[in-house]
Amino acid sequence: MFNLILFGPPGSGKGTQSEKLIEKYKFKHLSTGDLLRSEIAQQTPLGMEAKSLMDKGQLVPDEVVIGMISTALDANKDVNGFLFDGFPRTTAQAEALDKLLDFNKTSIGAVLFLQVPEEELISRMVNRAKTSGRSDDADENVQRKRLEVYSRDTLPVANHYRKSDKVVEIEGVGSVDDIFTSLSTIIDKKMSQSV
Ligand code: ADP
Repeated sequence: MFNLILFGPPGSGKGTQSEKLIEKYKFKHLSTGDLLRSEIAQQTPLGMEAKSLMDKGQLVPDEVVIGMISTALDANKDVNGFLFDGFPRTTAQAEALDKLLDFNKTSIGAVLFLQVPEEELISRMVNRAKTSGRSDDADENVQRKRLEVYSRDTLPVANHYRKSDKVVEIEGVGSVDDIFTSLSTIIDKKMSQSV
């Protein structure tokens, strides 16, 4: 089993690249953003609580997303590996994930960190707002807030995984296919090292 974290700021292309990676490697895709949007669509109490935070660019509480991930891990015992997208977003989430994986006798194989400059991120979110229908994409103040939360709470997650030498930085500007090729090259290398 090979598990991967696709890491990077909002708008760095995690969702786009995840779609291509799950097709190629048959990973089980776990995106906490998608899981939360599905709760919102079903109008569950959890979804309603999450929506008000997401619309402000704030994070949903750690225990909520950790619970969702724990449930998803239990429900998918026979997979090739997991691709975590948008999770972990805090050091506490990373520590919880390590424990959950350890309990299942597995671990993170690599953290691929997409590097994109801030102004490019804002322009991508502005563009995405035109088609995504996501209320958290539409407002520039919310976008700035998400980037601020990312720098404060999420960037430290990279340092957590640097301790075990798992982080590989990837240039996130360029064509979707070129970035996908870079990601695939690293994954193939890491996978061959892990067997
Ligand atoms: P993006 O594609 O911009 O990175 P996501 O779809 O991953 O955004 O997440 C959208 C929103 O959902 C976040 O701004 C946050 O409010 C919430 N969210 C998603 N994943 C997490 C998480 N792991 N921890 C806390 N909040 C989360």
